[in-house]
Amino acid sequence: GRVLVTGGNGFIGAHVIAHLLRSTPHHIIATVRTSEKATALLQTHGGANNPRLTTAVVPDITQPTAYDAAARGCDAIVHLASPFGYAYTDYESQLLQPSIAGTRAILNAANRTPSVRRVVYCSSFASVYDAADVAPSRTYTEADWSPLTYEDGKTAVATPVAYRASKVLSEREAWRLCKEQAQGGRWDLVALCPGMVFGPLVEGTLGSVTALNTSNSMVWGLLDKAEVPPTRATLWTSVVALAEAHVSALGAPEAGNERFLLLSGDYDNQELVDTIRGSTALDQTVKDRVPVGNPGERPKVETYKADGSKAAKYLKFSTPSLEETVEGLLKQVLGVEQEE
Ligand code: NDP
Repeated sequence: GRVLVTGGNGFIGAHVIAHLLRSTPHHIIATVRTSEKATALLQTHGGANNPRLTTAVVPDITQPTAYDAAARGCDAIVHLASPFGYAYTDYESQLLQPSIAGTRAILNAANRTPSVRRVVYCSSFASVYDAADVAPSRTYTEADWSPLTYEDGKTAVATPVAYRASKVLSEREAWRLCKEQAQGGRWDLVALCPGMVFGPLVEGTLGSVTALNTSNSMVWGLLDKAEVPPTRATLWTSVVALAEAHVSALGAPEAGNERFLLLSGDYDNQELVDTIRGSTALDQTVKDRVPVGNPGERPKVETYKADGSKAAKYLKFSTPSLEETVEGLLKQVLGVEQEE
């Protein structure tokens, strides 16, 4: 079949494309914002002559027909393009609008493309949990929704709040458009909700240390710190397992119109520094760059838990360890740092 992947040059998108090329016979159309990014994407996956990979330049995903041309003839869509960062200043134009209008554009393209049968949508645990309520007794499931509104995102005091609003509002929009289809719908939706995604980048996609993606920066950012910083989010997801889950979601009929928490485990920054210092795969010079903190100590205030068992059942989700994930990431970023 033909699969359209949006945000194909991103951290997760690159892994999804690599895994599709490796484990399926599909033809992939990857969208990016510029022709330079298209050239770089082809380079990442074996060069411009890969017969199974083409690119489409979509300069502005907020245009209602942005994805129509790229979607032509596709059987399935994987939607990943959405801003993720903590350095935005105008939340409405930089986070909410691209996320929500981009989702609308991709699903309208699905509506106008008769061959499309499935849309896999990369949402987030941000769409699920209530960050303002850290209730230790709570176990989140696929039935839970973040209470954040558009207004909350627009007027947020901090970027993470606006980011979380952008994710929950765009996932709600995705389900609304899915249900709005006539007669039960030609295409179905699978929404994937990962935690903080960690792991090595696809080989060749990290040009410089400063270009490291947002979630991996949570791990790399522990280096050269005097103290162990407070943990931003407490659930993590392996990028390798997540990419596999996107591909499984394309091919699992029973996953249609289902939502999945995709979680590798919980973590905190003390656990990350303990893991780094205890690693047998990392050099002492790296271990010495992370703060010691209070080894073995877990956070005094326990937060919520989450039940990710549905993804194991429907998508055969299984994950590498936190240790392996962090080791792979750090070795790679250190290599790039050495070359700079
Ligand atoms: P990256 O920043 O590495 O990738 C984001 C992708 O989206 C890039 O292809 C980027 O293109 C594109 N994009 C961002 N903003 C826009 C915009 N305004 N218009 C068009 N394209 C845009 O992040 P990830 O790979 O981590 O994120 C991919 C998806 O996964 C996102 O939907 C994110 O919300 C979701 N997610 C990520 C998590 C994580 O921890 N990493 C956790 C949960 C969900 P360009 O290179 O041109 O900017």
